[in-house]
Amino acid sequence: MSEVQTRFWLRDESATERFGALIGRACSDGGRVYLDGDLGAGKTTLTRGLVRELGHEGAVKSPTYTLVEPYMMLTPPVYHFDLYRLGDPEELEFMGIRDYFEHNGALTIVEWPQRGAGVLPEPDFRIRLEPLEQGRQARLEVFTERGTRMVDSVVSLSEMNEDRT
Ligand code: ADP
Ligand code: MG
Repeated sequence: MSEVQTRFWLRDESATERFGALIGRACSDGGRVYLDGDLGAGKTTLTRGLVRELGHEGAVKSPTYTLVEPYMMLTPPVYHFDLYRLGDPEELEFMGIRDYFEHNGALTIVEWPQRGAGVLPEPDFRIRLEPLEQGRQARLEVFTERGTRMVDSVVSLSEMNEDRT
């Protein structure tokens, strides 16, 4: 696990969506991004910003009951998992989790990754969302070399954005 930790302040819902859009741009070659945080922390809001940035125009809901929502038409293709209702990590084996994670070039976003502990592979990086004042704090923690490049890219994209406002 890496020492690199990066913090972002998201003042409101639209900031969370814009941050998700940056994540989408930074992960254009695919990878694994896990989202930690309590119910209402903003995980699905972030994912909505991400898939919209990549061209998805419809609604984006957390796939709480279906566990996964595929966005196959996007580049990269996105799989959005929500494991909140997962009873046992072994269920992931039955649903063929490896096929999703071994889909080369796909971007896999996972809410409640801790419910899949022991079965899910390591992420490239993890985003931990927590309430802070009226908004949210996002902390990014890197696990792989590819994750380091992705997070560097998120940081430089966010700096460019600040220059524009
Ligand atoms: P989760 O998927 O983590 O359960 P959701 O994204 O479904 O959370 O819901 C997050 C809630 O918090 C929504 O009501 C959204 O409007 C709000 N929200 C998202 N980001 C922020 C933010 N940066 N500041 C304040 N409220 C936010
Ligand atoms: Mg959610």
